[in-house]
Amino acid sequence: MKSSEIRSKFLEFFEARGHTVVPSSSLVPAKDPTLLFTNSGMVQFKDVFLGRESRSYTRATTAQKCMRAGGKHNDLENVGPSARHLTFFEMLGNFSFGDYFKREAIGYAWEFVTQVLGLEPSRLWATVHYTDDEAASLWQEVAGLPESRIIRMGDEDNFWQMADVGPCGPNSEIFYDRGPEKGCGDPNCTPAHDCGRFWEFWNLVFMQYYQDESGNRTPLPKKNIDTGLGLERTSAIMQGVDSIFETDLFVPIMDEVQRIAGHSDEDRRREIVAYRVIADHSRSLAFLIADGVTPGNEGRSYVLRRIIRRAIRFGRRIGIEGHFLSDTARVVVDIMGHHYTELEDQWSFIDKVTRAEEEHFSRTLARGVAQLDDLIDKLSASGQKEIPGEDAFRLYDTYGFPLDLTLELARDRGFSVDTEGFKRAMERQRAQSRAASTFTAKMPAAYAALSGEPTQFTGYTTLEDTGRVMAII
Ligand code: ATP
Ligand code: MG
Ligand code: MG
Ligand code: MG
Repeated sequence: MKSSEIRSKFLEFFEARGHTVVPSSSLVPAKDPTLLFTNSGMVQFKDVFLGRESRSYTRATTAQKCMRAGGKHNDLENVGPSARHLTFFEMLGNFSFGDYFKREAIGYAWEFVTQVLGLEPSRLWATVHYTDDEAASLWQEVAGLPESRIIRMGDEDNFWQMADVGPCGPNSEIFYDRGPEKGCGDPNCTPAHDCGRFWEFWNLVFMQYYQDESGNRTPLPKKNIDTGLGLERTSAIMQGVDSIFETDLFVPIMDEVQRIAGHSDEDRRREIVAYRVIADHSRSLAFLIADGVTPGNEGRSYVLRRIIRRAIRFGRRIGIEGHFLSDTARVVVDIMGHHYTELEDQWSFIDKVTRAEEEHFSRTLARGVAQLDDLIDKLSASGQKEIPGEDAFRLYDTYGFPLDLTLELARDRGFSVDTEGFKRAMERQRAQSRAASTFTAKMPAAYAALSGEPTQFTGYTTLEDTGRVMAII
């Protein structure tokens, strides 16, 4: 089943059950300046769940564009190594605002996966919160799932909260068993063990409590349902492939990378991580720019810049020299533009912004290479074979030149790099900037993502921080 078919069948299924089909909202949350990006289907309905806004319907269904790079949910570093994590993905969801609750939510989900998608019931598992006896017995009663395939888990996986104060509740996740050969090999393995055999693909949230300032939970007068099914994961399951990147949503992008790189199939297999990063980031940049985000040094713009530069770095790593991101982004528009028409509408803007950022970053890289060459010449003349940490740090801090590139180029010329010295220099500068400023990062740190250093974008911590640089490197 094609991914576009899964998307339309999902929306039709819930529409036929009284749900209003609501368009995806922007990746830039309209009413929530505390949130970096829309990261799930419920974001556009937050005020409805909070009872601050009412709609003409009590049931809704969406295919929502989501970004999980930066902020509370950050999957950026996972993209590449993981077969099922992306920065940009689509979440299909059904929502009940004080209308139906657990029984119907479980019933609909079961009917959709077994009847519409036709998944084999014996391959399906459910997790529930360890306190949620109601959900556990509904899975048996409504879906006929045996108790042995209902796993009770803790707060981290199976309890959802909008914030420290607000609506919350247990959730229940549906997993697909890809077969014992796809995981750790233990025939008694369960979804509690994240070995790759079981794929979580649908999360049902049962919003039934309100948590107050002191952490007390009281039942909500109106209980809600919020679900999210990952389109890419479901496509991989339906198409019988082992990673999201082998689905119809990705193959044309991966093919384009191969064409640009001039690789054989074997080269492609060897460089699969870089291919995945480039393909994922091409989608993200196309969708972000279409929603009006442009590369810059702060907030969302900074995340986009990191994504573009990361894609370029991975491109260089597999031997792509010229500009290429507009070409891969164009493929994204070709395969997704029929549903997300903003991509086609904004294509010339996406193209322009991508080219400009690629141009700018290529210059940065070229400048850094020239500096490094000079440095190596000087060191060679005095018989040295190691680049001092201070110098590597200066290249990084002043010229935005990533450490991993310094390491690579140094190696090519028979040099090593004092990475300990680099870390010390970075630490010292961090301490200085902590003392000197309320800002936690300045521009050159934007390159840290490309340097292989562990990096975390913590997002906005308060309303006041919105729009300021909040990256913690
Ligand atoms: P995981 O545990 O695999 O990281 P999650 O529990 O963080 O997933 P949810 O927040 O429950 O995910 O989101 C609902 C659904 O959205 C998931 O079941 C999955 O199908 C999909 N999804 C979540 N994160 C990603 C991602 N980074 N890339 C692709 N799909 C995702
Ligand atoms: Mg996750
Ligand atoms: Mg999970
Ligand atoms: Mg989940």
